[in-house]
Amino acid sequence: MNHAIDTQLIHAGETDRVEGAVRMPIFQTAMFEHDDSPLRYIRYNNTPNQEVLNRKLAVLEGAEEALVTGSGMTAITGAILSVLKPGEHLLAQNSLYGGTHGFVCTLMADLGITVSFFDADAPDTWQSLLQTNTRAIYVESITNPLLHVCDLEGIVAFAQANNLTSLIDNTFATPFNYKATAAGFDLSLHSATKYLNGHSDIVAGVIVGNREQVYQSRQTLKHLGGALDPHACFLLNRGMQTLALRMRQHNSTALALAKFLEDHDKVAHVYYPGLPSHPQHERAARLFEGFGGMLSIELKGELDAVTDLIDRLRLPLYAPSLGGVESLMTRPAISSHAGLTPEERETAGIRDSLLRISVGIEHEDDLIADFKQALH
Ligand SMILES: *Cc1c(COP(=O)(O)O)cnc(C)c1O
Repeated sequence: MNHAIDTQLIHAGETDRVEGAVRMPIFQTAMFEHDDSPLRYIRYNNTPNQEVLNRKLAVLEGAEEALVTGSGMTAITGAILSVLKPGEHLLAQNSLYGGTHGFVCTLMADLGITVSFFDADAPDTWQSLLQTNTRAIYVESITNPLLHVCDLEGIVAFAQANNLTSLIDNTFATPFNYKATAAGFDLSLHSATKYLNGHSDIVAGVIVGNREQVYQSRQTLKHLGGALDPHACFLLNRGMQTLALRMRQHNSTALALAKFLEDHDKVAHVYYPGLPSHPQHERAARLFEGFGGMLSIELKGELDAVTDLIDRLRLPLYAPSLGGVESLMTRPAISSHAGLTPEERETAGIRDSLLRISVGIEHEDDLIADFKQALH
């Protein structure tokens, strides 16, 4: 059956109607009696609340298997450590999510796995970075906070040609806007804390991919732990039912807000892949179902301008994270990228006045009106 994602979100994987229950009940038990069936234990990631998600998440990206995890970082670190062994080498995009950047530069390095950062938009530079021990390549579908969309098709082809495992952090795009494994990535990773759950009330992650590689991640996480508990599984499954509805709304509201802001005379720049002015707009339009709910802006004028704007806005909350139903805003220079030196931030293109907005599902007229009054 070839159902649309709207239908998959409701029905895929929901095979055990326990006692006829329409919703999978919460199995608040750490282990299960067993005789000949495999040992069921929460850390092994094979309890009913986990398995319904594992089945559903695989279907959403057209993959063989999926594994729900205790956080996005568990998915990322577990997948990386299942692919790379000490002495091996990783190629990683040069603008990683802060937590991932921190991991590859510290713990991963301590374990004897080396990394080279590369420009995922300059294919002619990739070959020269390959070493005999290069095992994997890692990118993000849309980068934070400048919303860059790299040459994803080129990355898949390069990985296949050079026998590398390709990994992608697909959190910003979600399976609604981009089916990374169907597009050829070996492993697609998500912070389900964000859009997949969508309600800013749990922390969770996902690994999606082919049977063998997901199995290896599962083995790694049996050692490291980091399984998602049954109650959070229940909330994630409930949140995911509306992923398609929410993403359509995020896509259209963010686009409307981006257009409004781009035309505003106090705004110096809007970073949003849905705008024709975005350098990878054509690519994003070709590869993605929609452009997502994340955008960043720079204001004309001094630093005061952005702090004034934050003070005056009534609807968006000034809080980290993203992907929830409510609009959120952060200043990357003093949050996600505070660990970089001012020079490093300048090189990365992250100005002090940059404001990142996670556009929620409030009515676009209300959000636009709020920005209009705040920019006055
Ligand atoms: C939030 C986030 C993560 C980390 O996920 P957690 O659920 O907080 O562990 C990884 N990648 C991206 C792109 C994120 O936004």
